[in-house]
Amino acid sequence: VPELPDVETFRRDLDAATLRRRIASASVRDPRLLGNVSADTLRRRLRGRRVAATRRHGKHLLVELDRGGCLVLHFGMTGGLRAIAGEDELGAHDRVVLWLAGDGGVAVSSVRLFGEVSLADSAEALIRDRRLGPDALTLDERGLADALRGNRAGIKSALMNQQRIAGIGNVYSDEILFQARLHPAIIAADLSAAERRRLHRAVGAVLRQAIEVRADPARMPPEWITPRRHAGAPCPVCGGEIERRSVGGRSAYFCRRCQKR
Ligand SMILES: [Zn+2]
Repeated sequence: VPELPDVETFRRDLDAATLRRRIASASVRDPRLLGNVSADTLRRRLRGRRVAATRRHGKHLLVELDRGGCLVLHFGMTGGLRAIAGEDELGAHDRVVLWLAGDGGVAVSSVRLFGEVSLADSAEALIRDRRLGPDALTLDERGLADALRGNRAGIKSALMNQQRIAGIGNVYSDEILFQARLHPAIIAADLSAAERRRLHRAVGAVLRQAIEVRADPARMPPEWITPRRHAGAPCPVCGGEIERRSVGGRSAYFCRRCQKR
């Protein structure tokens, strides 16, 4: 489930593969992944364009093109992106491919088609149109306080609301709350100033460390719960049982002893 650290990892790979290179052609192998654009328009708008920059906002990845406009990638539940050398490396779930002038390309995959490939005028236009909140990685303490103010939702739901804070989903909200020692169902607006500070530190620390290990659970610190995200697993801090409970319609994993209400 690509969240901010996964998408940032895709961005870095995309940057390494495509920056300042020219897109020879775009191949749409399954138009069901296309959002606000037809296959014809996408092919026409990308052909011959150079990749001027790559950007990420929350869970959205943007490919800025020379002469303006950008390609927008969103990975839904089961999507990904990887550099490929040629056609023979393509699989059934690769839906859109950017072929680069010279050689190779980048494949955008989606198993269950929940992702999206679209066009936008700019990153700013996308953020405005989708009403996305500030990016979680660059959020300062005040920005976090603004996002939580007056929010009567549980803190886990508040962290996952992309219109309040962009980038955090089900897995990383659990890790952040575990590291901050906060129960997932605490009302967001009820956090004390000290709890908010602790939460802010955990948001930055968890996202940065996850990016460092390319969002690979096998390489995450031993005191994290993400690698042992199943009910009944031992808490890496106190040895108690990790609990699974529905909070705001999503499965929250947490330790009742470490994360008291
Ligand atoms: Zn514990």
